[in-house]
Amino acid sequence: MIRVLVWNEFMHEKKSEKVAAVYPNGIHRAIADFLGEEKDIIVKTATLDEENCGISKELLDETDVMIWWGHMQHHLVPDEIAQMVRDAVLEGMGIIFLHSAHHSKPFCLLMGTPCHLTWRESDDSEILWVVDPAHPITRGIDRFFRLEAEETYGEPFTIPNPDKVLLIANYSSGEVFRSGCLFERGNGKIFYFQPGHESYPTYKVPEVQTVIKNAVRFLAPTYRQPLSCPHVQKITDEGSYVIPKS
Ligand code: ZN
Repeated sequence: MIRVLVWNEFMHEKKSEKVAAVYPNGIHRAIADFLGEEKDIIVKTATLDEENCGISKELLDETDVMIWWGHMQHHLVPDEIAQMVRDAVLEGMGIIFLHSAHHSKPFCLLMGTPCHLTWRESDDSEILWVVDPAHPITRGIDRFFRLEAEETYGEPFTIPNPDKVLLIANYSSGEVFRSGCLFERGNGKIFYFQPGHESYPTYKVPEVQTVIKNAVRFLAPTYRQPLSCPHVQKITDEGSYVIPKS
């Protein structure tokens, strides 16, 4: 079973009637609900309002893939929590950063760049084009899929060059954006996926759900160990070597 933790800031849904009408139980519940229908996935959720943002070392140790949605309250996530999430990724935990999580503390820590982009809310429609149809994350998606309306995100997106760009978006206004970006950091895999502005029902769109489900399976760790820098013994004449206790 793949153990998923969906983390959501859960503020817009409580402050805006328009957003609450789209996601009455919160974005985290909408994502947890469609993931929870999968036989190989078990889901927990956590939100900013909970003690320590609902995140602990023990919980991260039991999480294979984390999903992060945040927007207006990135600054309220304590640095220590963001560092804990970063360290779990370096050990091997997979993580999906959704939409405005491009400015979340854990994403910026893992990228090491400002992660700025251009943005506008003007009800543009969006087409997401599959760049890599052979990749497990785009499995089941045709050449493209369309979102009737989304927040417009545009380049330059000041991230490091991704290891792979899986999806590129273009909007009815003409902007283009690297909407599906894959990175590796330490033992962990990271997927940035752009759709998901809070006032649109984006997480109810089947293709968006397919990409997230595929990403969960792709990012699940195959190897998980804290990174270390051990002093090691020389290989002996017999070809054996000793790993010193750290
Ligand atoms: Zn947004």
